[in-house]
Parts: sequence; C-alpha cells; structure tokens
Amino acid sequence: MTGDIGLAPPRSAPGCATPAPEVLRERGQREVFCGLTGIIWLHRKIQDAFFLVVGSRTCAHLLQSAAGVMIFAEPRFATAIIEERDLAGMADCQDELDRIVRQLLDRRPDIRTLFLVGSCPSEVIKLDLGKAAQRLDVALGGRTRVLNYSGSGIETTFTEGEDACLATLVPEMPAAAADAAPSLVIVGALPDIVEDQFLRLFAELGIPVAGCLPARTVANLPAIGPQTRFLLAQPFLGDTCRALEDRGAKRLDALFPFGAEGTTDWLLAAALSFGIDRMHFNAVVAPGRERAKRAIAHRHERLAGKRITFLPDSQLEVPLARFLSNELDMIPVEVGTPYLHRDLTARELALLPAGTRISEGQHLDRQLDRVRADRPDLTVCGLGLANPLEAEGLSTKWAIELVFSPIHGFEQAGDLADLFARPLRRRDLLKV
Ligand code: SF4
Repeated sequence: MTGDIGLAPPRSAPGCATPAPEVLRERGQREVFCGLTGIIWLHRKIQDAFFLVVGSRTCAHLLQSAAGVMIFAEPRFATAIIEERDLAGMADCQDELDRIVRQLLDRRPDIRTLFLVGSCPSEVIKLDLGKAAQRLDVALGGRTRVLNYSGSGIETTFTEGEDACLATLVPEMPAAAADAAPSLVIVGALPDIVEDQFLRLFAELGIPVAGCLPARTVANLPAIGPQTRFLLAQPFLGDTCRALEDRGAKRLDALFPFGAEGTTDWLLAAALSFGIDRMHFNAVVAPGRERAKRAIAHRHERLAGKRITFLPDSQLEVPLARFLSNELDMIPVEVGTPYLHRDLTARELALLPAGTRISEGQHLDRQLDRVRADRPDLTVCGLGLANPLEAEGLSTKWAIELVFSPIHGFEQAGDLADLFARPLRRRDLLKV
C-alpha cells in the first residue's frame, strides 16, 4: 500500500532470509555492574513492593551510591548484610533472615510484595533464598507475598536483574478467562510518563491493553492466557519472554521502540496483530512520528558519518546501533553486547550495516585493544572505562545513562539522539 508508515523490512520473507551475521564470541575479564542495579528503577516502578538484598556491605554500597542517599524517604529497598559469623557458619542464616524479614514487616506493614534478592555472597554460601521465600510466604499467611530472584554479579550483567525480577512475577499474573477477548501486554519497565504515552497511542489505535509487566503495583498485574499477545519494550527480557510463552502468550516480533522507525514498527506489529485498519494506523501514528523525525533531524548534522563502538554493557546495544545507523547515519564499528538474544533481535541485526563487527561476551583487554586500533568518534561503555578512554583522547558515553533515561517512543527520540550528540558537542567545545 503506498503512503503507508512503516519502513522496516517485511516481517517474513520466505526464501530470502537475511543470513545471520557473524558474531565474535569472547570470554574473559568483564567490566559491568551486577543485577542488583535493576532495583534502582524497579523499586520506583513497582510501588507496593520492597526489595531486600541478602548480600554484603559491598552490595549495600552499590545500591546506596547508585540510588543516591535516601535519608529522608522511607525507601523500598534495603540490604540484609551477611556478617562474618554467618559466613563462618556460627549463625543459622535462614533464622537470621526470618528475624530480619519480620522486623521489616512489623515496621512497614504497607509492604505487599517482598522480593528477597540474591547476591554473590548469598550464592557463594549457597543460601537457598527460594526455600526462604516459600517458608516466609506460608508463615506470613497472605499478609505479604514473598518472592525471590538473583541479582548476583557472577556471570551476569546489570539488566539481567530486571529480567529475573519480571520472570518471577509471571507466575503471579492471574489467568485470563478461557473466553476472554485477545489483549495486549507491554513487557519491560518503562518510566510512567513513557508508559502513559504508549497506552494513549494503543487506546487511540483501538488496541485493547490488558496492562503492563511490571505493573505499577503487583496487585494490578494483568491477566494472561493463550489470547494474550505481548510486545517487549526491552531486548534483554529473554527469561521473561519464555515464562510468558510458557503460559500461552504470544510475542509480537517487532523492532524495539527506539527512534521514529523503531517505535513505528513496534506499534505496527500490534496493529497488524489486532487487525487495525492501515489508514487509521497511519492517522494515529503520523503526528508523533513526524515530531520524532524532526527532533532527530536536529542532531543529524553532528552525528552523521561519526563512527561508534559499543562495549558490552546494557544489552541495549543492538537496537541502539540500529537506530543510530538507520536514522542518524552513524557508522557502527563494533557492537558488543554481553548476551546476544538472537531471536529477540533478529530483525534489528538484519538492519545493521554490512561489515558491522558484532561481539558477544567480553574480553576486556582485547576489546580495548580494538577500540584503540579503531579510534571511533564515540565509545559507549561502563563508568569504569570512560575516564581512562577519555584520557586517551576518545569520547565516551556512559552506557548506564541509557537505562536510567527515558529513551523509548516518539516523544523521547530527540533526547535519545541527544544523549549521543552531547559528548561530541562537549569534545568540540573543549577543542576550541
Ligand atoms: S551482588 Fe556481587 S557484584 Fe553485586 S554488589 Fe554484591 S558482591 Fe558486588
């Protein structure tokens, strides 16, 4: 149909599948935050939940510094610190944990869902938090639901914390009635303002939305069943996706909603699935899409032709590289990601320019050698690598900022482009 919005390649092209790109796999020293970091955005999102990390002082410091000091607020996260006598086996950790949980709930009866979050220390001493959660859940008799997941930094990266938390919530979602009409669930923690923008667009399109995962309160998790279709808002939710599919829900394959094209494609996947008239889709989507394109165009001059390398960190690397190359004409040199979710990002990968080096996993020294040899205009990396690279004259962008900032959807597309333009602007100013 001419005049249609939606520029991504066809959703299925039998017989002419794009060959899977070659991926450089690396194992070695890594430089990433652990899954506890996800608590920083999850505790703001899920307002009736509390996250109790069972960890060490290091875990407590990580959380405190990542979240900022919250002296005046009643926080919704804390760390139960495993002391030396616990490690030495002089105290029964399960008893200690029961005591701390009871203390916490006596003081904070408003907590409806308590997540016991595992850490490296709790895993090293093989503290069974699954068993603890089951025991406490029964003991509390429905007053507070107790769940658990791991945020450990052993062989994980920081966005896996969100995946583990959401996968834990899937069994908590009520079952949809067998004769329920098809409905949509948005999956992935989004800032409330962005979530509201999407909900408004789906309402205008006429697509019935059952809710979001995570919901703003655990009590309001959407019902799920074989009639449920879901859109992932984040590319790192592999376990959550599998858990939803195990309950019969169907994932709608789409680009991730970054930039004008990604957002259009994401909305289009839902519109096609729910049989929305194409003219109506175009009419609803066009104003936001045009605003996004105009906002992106303002950053085009600064970013076009610039070479960019992503070091493996947030797992957002592939869709962001697609956005930067397709909509801003940047040149991805290397796109490194801790884990490559091939099925979830297949369409994203197909849109990366030929010759883009894709790497999975990390061998820090080798990767830094490649950055030094490539000398990209911009390197997206973890906090610990940014300063040394800047000292070598390379411009950097902190990957974690991309997770903490609202970057999804039409209205945020300009800000997303600006996150990459800013370090280059600063570099140019410093040169003068
Ligand atoms: S979970 Fe592990 S990596 Fe994370 S802060 Fe605690 S000790 Fe460090």
